Amino acid sequence: MKLTSEQIKAFDGLEEANRNMDIRRQELAPMCHFREMFYDQSDSTDGHYEEWWECSVCGHTELL
Ligand SMILES: [Zn+2]
Repeated sequence: MKLTSEQIKAFDGLEEANRNMDIRRQELAPMCHFREMFYDQSDSTDGHYEEWWECSVCGHTELL
């Protein structure tokens, strides 16, 4: 598939928006064990979409 330059520009804009969202989200990360918890998400089988924060030390999770 060949993308037009307009499509590529739109795609770049989307990537940029996603990146900015990730940065903003990470700034909101709660702390656990003196570390920022990391963000995870899943599209689970029942169509239920979940997002949560998870501590990499104790594995405790906090839903968004
Ligand atoms: Zn923890």
